[in-house]
This record gives sequence, structure tokens and C-alpha cells, in this order.
Amino acid sequence: MSDLTRVWLTVDTDDLRHVPSNQGHPTRSKPDKDLPVLSDTFRNGMIEFKEWLNTHDRAVTLFVIADQCESEDFVQMICDICESFGKRITIGCHGLHHRSWSAWPEDAEGFSRDLKAAATVLEQEFPQHFRRWFRAPAGYLASWMIPVLIEQEFVVDSSVNPSWLVNKKYGKGESWKTVLAAVKQTSLIERPWKTRLSLPTCGPAQHITGLRWNARRAWANLSEALDASEIDSVEDSSNELDTIYWHILDHARKDGGWIPPIKGL
Ligand SMILES: [Zn+2]
Repeated sequence: MSDLTRVWLTVDTDDLRHVPSNQGHPTRSKPDKDLPVLSDTFRNGMIEFKEWLNTHDRAVTLFVIADQCESEDFVQMICDICESFGKRITIGCHGLHHRSWSAWPEDAEGFSRDLKAAATVLEQEFPQHFRRWFRAPAGYLASWMIPVLIEQEFVVDSSVNPSWLVNKKYGKGESWKTVLAAVKQTSLIERPWKTRLSLPTCGPAQHITGLRWNARRAWANLSEALDASEIDSVEDSSNELDTIYWHILDHARKDGGWIPPIKGL
């Protein structure tokens, strides 16, 4: 039996050029300049994502990287999703260029500039759907990023993967626990990602050998996802939620046949 904690469905819009092995990370990135602003894989993923949205009535938040809006086609695709599904769609911020700020030395000024530029673009392109909700590129926050988010009136962060498996990513003296504790001292609401048996279940964990069995079990036992009338509860800290995420690019897997393995959807 699943518990009654409701589920927040979130999807990151990273394109092929945004993955840390290509850009944004101090040690992992080897940029390939030939990757397009908007890839065909992404286009295919969006087509399949829309198909999937047509099969149910739940709300979905897209975490968008603002530099994707350099492509008019990208903006068109997101606007089409917004028009087709209305209040079911909300848009959060996944950075300006997907720079992994937490992996670099502390730079509050640089992050602040980036965040402001990103929020400006997203607000301008998707005014009815944009919310000041943040997901850190590469999926983890450093504590010094928290005051910057608050200063720029972000109300929700969803960047904490509460698993021992990711602690090596954090800077000296930090872990997901210290970051979560630091957020809890502030007005910012943290929506950590769903784990099972203390292991990640979101994003790549759905596909990695050794993690995917557990990850799929977790998603197969979720309770009901939020609908459009309930999406504001993301901003209500008295509401516990199970937050899960995957990528638009995942919808291009298996020749477009992949769908998130969520119970009831
Ligand atoms: Zn990302």
C-alpha cells in the first residue's frame, strides 16, 4: 500500500548540449561545439511528451534552462504545451546556461546575475506559467546559493537529492543534510527528490543499472499526482509532497516509446 503523500510531477528540459559532460562543470565538461541549440532528439522528446500529457489530467512543472529560448522553435514548442494544457503547466527555472554553480568556487555575484537574467527571460516568454521555483543545474545546491535565491524572490527550491550516494558531489563540510538544514532556516521551501531505501529514484536513476529496479519500484507505488487546482500546494510548506523528475529527452528513448513508469498514469 502506498502512503497518501501526493506527488509533484516535474520535468527538466535539458537538451543534449546541457549535460555536464558537455558544459557547465569544472572537471566533467568537454564541450562539443557542434551540438545544436535545439536537437532533433529534443524535438522528438517534446512530441512524445505532449502525447503523454494527452493521456491524463495531472499537473506538470517544467524546469527550463533560459538559454533554450534563443531558439524560436523551442519557445513555440513550450508555448504550444502551455496553450494546449493551460493551468496544468507551470514553469520553473533551471538556470541560464545550466552552469553547475555548486561545483565551482563560491560566486554569489555571478550566480545572482545569472539567475536574474534567467528569470527575466522566462517571465517574459511564459508570463502566465512562470513561477519562482528553482532547480539547480546538475541537481545540487551549495549553501551560499540559498540567500541569492531568496533575494531574488524565489519561493521554492527542488535541488536536494537526499541520498548518501550523492554526498561526494558536495563541497568541503557540506552534504545534502547540511544544505537541507540551511534551507529550513529560511523562508525558501525545499522539495527534495523522492528516494527509496535511501537511494535516488529520479532522473538518471530510472535508467542506471543497479539503481533502476529500486527506482521503478518507488515510482510504481506513488500516490496520486497533483492536478491543476492543487499545484499551489507546492508553495505550502505544511503540505508534504513526493517530488519526482525526469527529462524531456527521456521521452525520446525507445524510439519515442518511453513513458515515466508512474502508477496510475
Ligand atoms: Zn539539468
